[in-house]
Amino acid sequence: MSGWEQNVRRVTPYTPGEQPTQSGVIKLNTNENPYPPSPLVKRALEQADADRLRLYPSISCDELVEGLAKRYGLDKANLFVGVGSDDVLSMAFLTFFKSDRPILFPDITYSFYEVWAQVYGIPYKTVPLREDFSLSAEDYFGENGGVVIANPNAPTGICAHADTIESIIAANRDSVVIIDEAYVDFGAESVIGLIKKYDNLLVVQTFSKSRSMAGMRIGFAAGSEKLIRYLNSVKFSINSYTMNTLSQICGAAAIKDEEYFKKTVAQIIATRERAKERLIELGFTLTDSKANFLFAKHNKRDAKEIFTKLKEKNIYVRWWDKPRISDYLRITVGTDEQMDALYSALKQIL
Ligand SMILES: *Cc1c(COP(=O)(O)O)cnc(C)c1O
Repeated sequence: MSGWEQNVRRVTPYTPGEQPTQSGVIKLNTNENPYPPSPLVKRALEQADADRLRLYPSISCDELVEGLAKRYGLDKANLFVGVGSDDVLSMAFLTFFKSDRPILFPDITYSFYEVWAQVYGIPYKTVPLREDFSLSAEDYFGENGGVVIANPNAPTGICAHADTIESIIAANRDSVVIIDEAYVDFGAESVIGLIKKYDNLLVVQTFSKSRSMAGMRIGFAAGSEKLIRYLNSVKFSINSYTMNTLSQICGAAAIKDEEYFKKTVAQIIATRERAKERLIELGFTLTDSKANFLFAKHNKRDAKEIFTKLKEKNIYVRWWDKPRISDYLRITVGTDEQMDALYSALKQIL
């Protein structure tokens, strides 16, 4: 090993789902929204002035933050925006988790949490979910350096009741509790309103899933003024201009279109519930997902085999070779046509 290599920060990076380059793939592997963003986003892009790109973007992301404040009934001082919720979460880990005590998160959850803990040198402990992948609040009542919960959880889609989540926040007034609500719009209950009651609560959401804007990279956090101030101090110590001008413009346009948002979310929920019935008919057992994906285990056939055969048919889903979940496939809810193609392919495979 070269001398300099001994001083390299070594990490095992997060592995995102595959982004195929060939056309004709039915892509149900990264929980993207199958519908386009709001027409207001398209219009905002068309009307955007390229000359404006000469200037640095707004530091405070005013228009976007104002839109979010209005939509969620919060003050601007309660909001923080970033380059996707991954950026927001990563900043939050760096800002709030400096204790010697381990931070806690479930054994089965968004695998990025472990990666951020490792890269920032944050001690962490994973807490096993129950056998049925449900969350037991009491497991988070002991001493810790922070808590991170995805609700609904990924990749199970299971959501905990808002009271369960609140009991975790209430039991941890000396730690910051991050609730990652990436999928909350697809039928779970948000705890964003609780930021007024608990100054240790940070709720993180994204435009990538329910607002069809994964390619724009927009995420945000809501929390007490104090929490947001600390978050901003760290963010401004690393990069003042994270959110580019076009993302800010398009995000502000998207948040105005409540009608379109409701319509597309309702469509995905309807497709998801139908998909549950169809997959049960095909021999799968599913969790009660409240997200824009399904978590499905076949009663007879091997998950890896189904995953591979679907891929040969140009249908991409997600499978992990990990303890407890290697019998499962995570299938993003697509359009009704995409889901029909999935059922036909599965009929041939099974
Ligand atoms: C998709 C996802 C994110 C990150 O989304 P961004 O595209 O970075 O906003 C965060 N948490 C969970 C649980 C997710 O599934």
